[in-house]
Amino acid sequence: MSESAKLLDGKALAKRVLAELGGRVQACTAAGRTPCLAVVLVGDDPASKIYVRSKERKAASVGIETRDHRMPATTSTEALLERIAELNADESVHGILVQLPLPAGVDERRVLEAVDPRKDVDGFHPDNLGLLMLGVPRFVACTPQGCMRLIAASGIELSGKRALVIGRSNIVGKPVAQLLLQQNATVTIAHSRTADLEAEVRGADVVVAAVGRPELVRGEWIKPGAVVIDVGINRVDAGGDKPKLVGDVAFEAAAARAGWITPVPGGVGPMTIACLLANVVEAAEAASS
Ligand code: NDP
Repeated sequence: MSESAKLLDGKALAKRVLAELGGRVQACTAAGRTPCLAVVLVGDDPASKIYVRSKERKAASVGIETRDHRMPATTSTEALLERIAELNADESVHGILVQLPLPAGVDERRVLEAVDPRKDVDGFHPDNLGLLMLGVPRFVACTPQGCMRLIAASGIELSGKRALVIGRSNIVGKPVAQLLLQQNATVTIAHSRTADLEAEVRGADVVVAAVGRPELVRGEWIKPGAVVIDVGINRVDAGGDKPKLVGDVAFEAAAARAGWITPVPGGVGPMTIACLLANVVEAAEAASS
């Protein structure tokens, strides 16, 4: 890494966020309302199981209760909607997380729309995405929120800066672009049809890469001093027993030019979980008011 590039350490920042949540969880618990997250996992996707386990472990570490709802891969949309309706009606549940992806054949959109928006701690419900668009967010999707907290940790003032978001998914690219816009950045969204990605990257003061293509963004494209947030999680064969995790940005070469950069792993990933738990605590606090 160059002398100038500083690491945006998501693990360390997540620890601080969780420490701050601990006190709020205690206050809720003392008031007889322990924050509770229902985790719905349908099917046997191995990566999903790992994500769910690590969310549950972190939740427990700050005193948030989790309730596991494992359902077989053969679960129908109707059966899942029934389960969501039960969780919506259960006053002791403050947040509902439906782990994605759902098995093929389950209508993901109907399922996400069925979650009570006040328990939608993932921020995927159209009401919550709409509120974000209007500039009055309730629950902000966790990965975009994590990206913004990491950018804030760099100390960069976003107003007037050129921000490039690569990727336009509903769960990462679009919401993060909205959040950057709200901070008065001049925002460009690149995607698979963007004609000259290199030129877009070269002009950007802030790059958020959320693509899912290993090291698509080359280090020499990065504007000197830029803030680079790498959302991508890609498993590549590195010749060992286990696949290696790499981001969407070629880290070493990018770090030689960037002002600030997130590592993969240990950047956006831990912040995503911390922001999910922050949303659960917020939901529990709001449930009492
Ligand atoms: P999606 O597959 O939903 O979206 C990928 C986006 O990348 C699309 O908008 C696509 O464009 C765009 N894209 C694909 N190829 C190119 C290209 N060559 N040039 C420019 N843009 C391109 O992915 P997600 O948003 O769900 O996730 C993105 C990455 O982030 C994945 O690696 C995922 O694993 C990771 N992730 C990490 C999280 C974390 O906590 N760290 C959480 C969520 C995701 P188009 O729309 O035109 O197809």
